[in-house]
Order: sequence, then structure tokens, then C-alpha cells
Amino acid sequence: MMATNGASTASVALPARVVSLLACPACGGKLLLDMEGFRCAESKCGQTFPIVNGIPILIDPNSSLFTFDDYLADFRADLHDIHRDAAYAECLNPNSYASSPRLARELLALGSAGIVYPSVRRASGTCLVCFRPALVTHVRQGGSVTFTFCDPSSPPLIS
Ligand SMILES: [Zn+2]
Repeated sequence: MMATNGASTASVALPARVVSLLACPACGGKLLLDMEGFRCAESKCGQTFPIVNGIPILIDPNSSLFTFDDYLADFRADLHDIHRDAAYAECLNPNSYASSPRLARELLALGSAGIVYPSVRRASGTCLVCFRPALVTHVRQGGSVTFTFCDPSSPPLIS
């Protein structure tokens, strides 16, 4: 898609409706599209954001540190295991969450404690959803990963 504002513009691989909802990550101002990418329309801000391979990189360089804390817990329950069950293949679609909430509602209504399923993002990973908070015990902090985005066109530093 090519948005226009009277001059040549960068190319954005997002629907126009999505582009119209984008806002400056620094101040929340309206974003204007030009040849370089997006530019904040707020005169006090004016930050620019590149478009890489059609994707706007909307990262505030003054607030570009993200930390993910991992938590561990024990579960004491019989869970529905949907590994290797073709009936639930659509629930494991990495591009859609349309089917999985329906399965969760159905199992919850049947009294299920939760679901064990293969990760769709990590080949050897296993995921778990527990419907009953009382079955989650011994919660503790695991590892922590920090992503620092120094330059919008480069991968983040991970520590
Ligand atoms: Zn701004």
C-alpha cells in the first residue's frame, strides 16, 4: 500500500485503517507519512520513525528498554493434552486466535482444569493454560531478559 499526502511517500505494508490508528510512541501525537517514513506532527516532538521492509519501526529511543520476567509455578491437576490431536489443529494456528478461546470456553464449561499444548513459536516448547487459579502453587521468579533498542534499524541488544 502507498499512502499519499501530496508528495512522494514511503511504502507501508499495513492496511490504511491500521496506519490511521498509529500514534507517536513518544508523545501520542498524530503521525504523518513522508519519503523518510513517519514523522510526529506535534511540533514539540517531531520525532521520525523509519519504515523497514514496509513495517513502521515505532520505537521511542528515549524509552526503548523492555524487560521480560519469567515466572515458574507448579500445577497439580489433570489437564487436557491436545498434543498430536488433529481435532484441535486450528487452535494451534500461529496466525489466528479465533479457535482457541472457543475451545477454552467449551472445556471450562465441562469442568476442565486446563490445557497442555505444543508451543507454536518454539518447536520443542510446551505451553499450559490453567483455568483454576487455586491449582497454581509455588509461584517463583525465574530468569529475566532485557531488550534494549538503540537504533530502530538494528536488532535489539539482549542481556
Ligand atoms: Zn511525538
